[in-house]
Amino acid sequence: MSESMPKTKKPEAGVNPVYNAMLKLAEKHGVSVCENEIEQFGPNGVYTHYCKSGIELHLIIIDSNLEIEKKIFVLGHELGHYALHQKRMDEIHNKNKLLGLTNHYDNEPKMEKDANEFAERLISFVTRHLTRKLPNAA
Ligand SMILES: [Zn+2]
Repeated sequence: MSESMPKTKKPEAGVNPVYNAMLKLAEKHGVSVCENEIEQFGPNGVYTHYCKSGIELHLIIIDSNLEIEKKIFVLGHELGHYALHQKRMDEIHNKNKLLGLTNHYDNEPKMEKDANEFAERLISFVTRHLTRKLPNAA
């Protein structure tokens, strides 16, 4: 990371219950989520998988300037890539010798569509789960 790189920060906790629940879900799966002013690079969000010398890292970066609803969708979308496309994305990155911090999947509209569907389902699941009364929940 260069000196001029905008500051990366942890997503603010307590802003939105759906966003918080999804952040916890990501954490549970070993996916680190951070926010950064990435709009200058193009995408609203990025998912990257780094695996080398026994170190495995899953990282999602979300544009910190987005509205909360949009952040939620972007997080769901990137989690979709994590859940559905990890292998395929690794192949693309290896082939193009990319670090993974860029979205070069414009030629993979099916992947983008699937990630959007995953996001919609995940968000509706989390929303339902949060609003349902769970009398026996600890
Ligand atoms: Zn995508």
